[in-house]
Amino acid sequence: MTNNEIIDKGQKYVMNTYSRYPIAPVKGQGCLVWDADGKEYLDFVGGIAVCVLGHCDPGLQAALEKQAALLWHVSNLYWIEPQVELAEKLVTISGMGKAFFCNSGAEANEAAIKLARKYFYRRGEPRYEIIVFNHSFHGRTLATVTATGQKKYQEGFAPLPAGFVYADYNDLESVQQLINDKTAAIMLEPVQGEGGIHLAQAQFLTAIRNICDQQGILLIFDEVQCGMGRTGAFFAYQNYGINPDIVTLAKGLGGGFPMGAMLATDRAASGFAPGDHASTFGGTPIATAVANYVVDTIGAAQFLEIVNETGIYLCESLNKLQDNRIIEIRGMGLMQGIEFNREIKDLVQICMQHGLLVIGAGANVLRFVPPLNITKGDIDRAVVILTAALQEWQ
Ligand code: PLP
Repeated sequence: MTNNEIIDKGQKYVMNTYSRYPIAPVKGQGCLVWDADGKEYLDFVGGIAVCVLGHCDPGLQAALEKQAALLWHVSNLYWIEPQVELAEKLVTISGMGKAFFCNSGAEANEAAIKLARKYFYRRGEPRYEIIVFNHSFHGRTLATVTATGQKKYQEGFAPLPAGFVYADYNDLESVQQLINDKTAAIMLEPVQGEGGIHLAQAQFLTAIRNICDQQGILLIFDEVQCGMGRTGAFFAYQNYGINPDIVTLAKGLGGGFPMGAMLATDRAASGFAPGDHASTFGGTPIATAVANYVVDTIGAAQFLEIVNETGIYLCESLNKLQDNRIIEIRGMGLMQGIEFNREIKDLVQICMQHGLLVIGAGANVLRFVPPLNITKGDIDRAVVILTAALQEWQ
């Protein structure tokens, strides 16, 4: 089918929940994709921070094919070898105690919210309230969309679940004002992604950790977007030198295969007992075999060193752009954003026409979340296209 044939059929049969760009990528290799009409694009979206090893990585493909010939699915009624191996690796890297597997970021956060509440329920403490943050994004289920501090995602879905209160990011006082004897957890993204690439300040995170320790509150980090090596450390919180009680992952964990995880310290994980939470497809042999390969690749010291180097190079290259509509360039590692003084929707379209895929984060921020194995040459190519697109952008 051609782009137009795919789009026409899609508009007729696929539910109208996305306003999609008018191309249909059908093939990918590394950080390149090709649409159905054969046009090539440099992909700095990476399936929205998912394709951490690029498209069709040969090792990832081999891991998938090897497991596909062995066993796909048996359910969590039984022990699953690659799942157990993955749990051990993630627990070791994160400094947590136990892993729970699911299929998406929303599901991982839903599990984290449920664990926090059940933890206090088991202790006989009536705590259930979760402090979350304005401009955050935690997913689209009813609980996670309520945890998301952006009204536009919640509109029309009332009544929303009770027990979420909203503080301002990097504003300690706004957090302190919300703490009471019902507070179970504080939940935040160490780097806010969808909300516009906002970095947590080190003193803020340290102070939040101290408050949680003093008051017995659980600290939940949502690393669905900023985890899996994206910031140059395996977990973004490792850049700050503090540990959460619960951390969630998804997106990059399966490198393109649907996969989510919630990791918790042994203390926090003691909130769950058999029957408390479950997922039919959580941690299947095939998903965990793929994720094991991703984790092994990213977990290698040299890999993250290179992400750090290319991250700095991307940041420096973006900082060389001359455009008086740019307000700020900010980010960490290969999670960078350019904030403009206007909406960037048209700029994304122009970049696409010139063969570069980029994405917004909020209305005014152009976001760069490419595969983690891009080269400096790929960055140079992207910046040339972006420079031309900026000139064309009225
Ligand atoms: N949390 C964060 C930080 C995210 O960026 C996202 C998705 O963009 C989610 C949660 C939801 O993940 P999913 O779309 O896999 O449910």
